[in-house]
Amino acid sequence: MSMEDYDFLFKIVLIGNAGVGKTCLVRRFTQGLFPPGQGATIGVDFMIKTVEINGEKVKLQIWDTAGQERFRSITQSYYRSANALILTYDITCEESFRCLPEWLREIEQYASNKVITVLVGNKIDLAERREVSQQRAEEFSEAQDMYYLETSAKESDNVEKLFLDLACRLIREA
Ligand code: GDP
Ligand code: MG
Repeated sequence: MSMEDYDFLFKIVLIGNAGVGKTCLVRRFTQGLFPPGQGATIGVDFMIKTVEINGEKVKLQIWDTAGQERFRSITQSYYRSANALILTYDITCEESFRCLPEWLREIEQYASNKVITVLVGNKIDLAERREVSQQRAEEFSEAQDMYYLETSAKESDNVEKLFLDLACRLIREA
C-alpha cells in the first residue's frame, strides 16, 4: 500500500533573463543558502520542497532554467503543466525589465490559460544601483493582472513569502 505524502502538488516554473537571480531564489528557498560566485546553475530539472499551509502538506516542484533563457529556446514542454510562473527581473538591470513583454508573449503562447504568474523584482539588497522603480513595476504588474513582489535571494528578503503566498493562491484556485 502506498500513501501520498502530500495533499497538493504544484509545478512552479521560473522564467526571466539570464543573470536576474532565478537559480539563487530557488536555492535560497529550497536549501536556505546563497551560492557564492557566478554560475549557480543547479544542473537538475527541478527541486522539491514540501511546505505546510493550514495543516495541508503542499509539495512544490520548482523548475529552474539551466542557461537556456533566450526566447523560444525554452519550449512548450517547459511551460506545459506549470501551475504557476515566477517571472523574474533584476531591479538593477533595466534591460531585464524591458524584456518582460517578450516573456509575457511566451507565456501567452505556451502556458496554460489558468496559470498564475507572479512578477518578481530581485536583488533589492542592491538598492543603490536600482534602475527600475517600484512604482513602474507596480504599474506594469497591475496592467497585466500579475501579483508583484520584490526580493533579495542574497539577504533572504521576501523569498519565503514569495513561495508561500504563491502556494496559498494555488490552493485557493485549485
Ligand atoms: P539566473 O541566471 O537568473 O539563474 O541568475 P543566478 O541565480 O545565477 O544569479 C546571477 C548573479 O546574480 C550571480 O552572481 C548571483 O550571485 C547574483 N544574485 C542573484 N540573486 C541576487 C540577489 O538577491 N542580490 C545580489 N546582490 N546578487 C544576486
Ligand atoms: Mg540560473
